[in-house]
Amino acid sequence: MEIYKVREISRRNLLILLGAGTLSASLGSGLFSSEMVSAKESVASTASDKALKRLLEGNKRYVAGKLLNSERNPSRIHDLAKGQQPFAVVLACSDSRVPPEIVFDQGLGDLFTVRVAGNFLEPGGLASIDYAVEHLKSPLVLVLGHRRCGAVTAVVESIQTGKALPDDISKFSEAIAPAIESAKKQLGDAVDNAVRANIKYVTNELKTSQPVLAEFVKKGQVKVLGAYYNLDTGDVQVIA
Ligand SMILES: [Zn+2]
Repeated sequence: MEIYKVREISRRNLLILLGAGTLSASLGSGLFSSEMVSAKESVASTASDKALKRLLEGNKRYVAGKLLNSERNPSRIHDLAKGQQPFAVVLACSDSRVPPEIVFDQGLGDLFTVRVAGNFLEPGGLASIDYAVEHLKSPLVLVLGHRRCGAVTAVVESIQTGKALPDDISKFSEAIAPAIESAKKQLGDAVDNAVRANIKYVTNELKTSQPVLAEFVKKGQVKVLGAYYNLDTGDVQVIA
């Protein structure tokens, strides 16, 4: 709803700026359409920035132990029965220590979440994210990886030892190994480098994903960012 509201305001502001008398003449000019596009872009970008700010403020409360736990009550359940308008989409790991609604201190209906061990992108996850962006108008997509991720660790160890992963979790390897290729030659903690490389890789995959996300990103209607969750402190940092 918020994005629609700000768009309405933007349209009203444009009308005020142009004046009713000049509107019809301006409608036929390229100037009007380019102004309208840039106004829409800045409004959409504001919606994405606001969404990020809301997430990071929630994370600060979580780290400080000052959770509001708002929007988790019977009246919210009742309101949401009519429909949802989550302000952000989060692609996170399934790890029990990184539930997005809790680490960002958000309530029912706030976040549209996709979770898979290793927060990699697979077709079902992508379709879900596309749906949230296209139909629920979420202005922000956040890829959330985390320190000492078990799935990433398994793939790093498999590469280091040359031992294939068991069949039931070999999908991790297929998805994560290409993502962490760029981290192989980096100095420092191999798993942490791989976690960060995986976040950046998946963020880029989403940004360039056709036909939906890339177009929304190009039009400035959605921001796709990658963030790292510190298991030791609870802190979230945007890294991509
Ligand atoms: Zn994980």
